Amino acid sequence: MSDMINGRASCDCAAHGCPMLGSLTSSTTGTSEWLCWFHFGKEPVQWQSITAQLREVGWLVDALRNIRMNYGTENWGPVYLGIKQELLRNGREDLTCKELETVRMWSGRIEKAIADHVQVRPAQQKPLQGVEVKSGTWSKVQYSLPEGSRRPAVVD
Ligand SMILES: [Zn+2]
Repeated sequence: MSDMINGRASCDCAAHGCPMLGSLTSSTTGTSEWLCWFHFGKEPVQWQSITAQLREVGWLVDALRNIRMNYGTENWGPVYLGIKQELLRNGREDLTCKELETVRMWSGRIEKAIADHVQVRPAQQKPLQGVEVKSGTWSKVQYSLPEGSRRPAVVD
């Protein structure tokens, strides 16, 4: 594998301790901060609980990672058997790869099983501050995001 950033592999989700691969970023400037789709778009106060729940089903997350990182490589045969054994060992025969199922469909089902486990409680929303602006016949309300709710852009 590849580069390490702050002790985690560069392909990992940037949320501290998250076992998932990072696959999403909101940056358009080129960044190493990739998040998994469980963490992406969530408030930082929710991150720790999401990570803890992902770790509870770490064997499922491992299965997903192993599929993503090994499918199509020469390691795939033994990796596939290992994943299947682990699913059976955890009583999830229903999650083994079905006949005529593509690897993409299969990993989608595993992903859904993980998602079913992770319950994200909504963060407390700060109310937006509305300012009424009169313009001619129409009045409109402008909203600005609360201070600190937006991350500053990364400037190299
Ligand atoms: Zn994550």
